Amino acid sequence: MIKDINIDEESIFNQRQFIIIAGPCAIESYEQMQCIGKFLKKLGIKYLRGGAFKPRTDPNSFQGLGMEGLKILRDIKTVYEFKVVSEIVDPRDIDLTYDYIDIYQIGSRNMQNYSLLKEVGRTNKPVLLKRGMSATIEEWIKASEYIALEGNKNIILCERGIRTFENYTRNTLDLMSVPILKSLTKYPVIVDPSHGTGRRELILPASKAALILGADGIIVEVHPKPEEALSDGFQSLNFEEFENLVVEMNRLENLV
Ligand code: PEP
Ligand code: MN
Repeated sequence: MIKDINIDEESIFNQRQFIIIAGPCAIESYEQMQCIGKFLKKLGIKYLRGGAFKPRTDPNSFQGLGMEGLKILRDIKTVYEFKVVSEIVDPRDIDLTYDYIDIYQIGSRNMQNYSLLKEVGRTNKPVLLKRGMSATIEEWIKASEYIALEGNKNIILCERGIRTFENYTRNTLDLMSVPILKSLTKYPVIVDPSHGTGRRELILPASKAALILGADGIIVEVHPKPEEALSDGFQSLNFEEFENLVVEMNRLENLV
């Protein structure tokens, strides 16, 4: 696999536009993804997220469709010309998933899975590295070095909230990490207001704050029927809410 990808040449963030990555927490069916894909395409969204390998806290909850899900994702990507983001949880899955995923997501639970980090570091695909839920900024940067040292410097850091004593929100979204990482690294920094807050009514204010603080984008969970979602429905926006988010973010971006 190709090494030494230069982030300045390859990064999707070169366009200097606030990036919105959107899609469901999990790929559930072809119909669900087609419905979401058609909707997001209409809004001009270019990056589609969807989990196929779901690292769920509860082993009895929906674990994702695996490769069947990635095949659906690839079909939808081809029809609507998206770049797709999906999580991998096992270093052995890199070869299997390589042709299906444009941006590898490393989830919070795997931020310190060093064999996984090294393995994605040996590929030439962008890696979206989420912050570990109990990781300091320094530990997070060190984790990114595991990827970079293997040759892949096409890394996107994603703040997704950390665990604190506060339980009104699902996690405590540590937005100060955005300007801190901007000063300490050269990587794009995005924010996940969905996992970061776990509350749909906080996604818009968290997204606005992320933009103001200098984030390069957000990754947001969207579902046609959040109340029926197989995972994270409580924090997923419905189509109307998501469209409003896009309008509001465009407006704000034009102001700053
Ligand atoms: C996700 O993005 O679906 C996810 C599981 O996120 P995190 O790893 O941040 O919990
Ligand atoms: Mn989720």
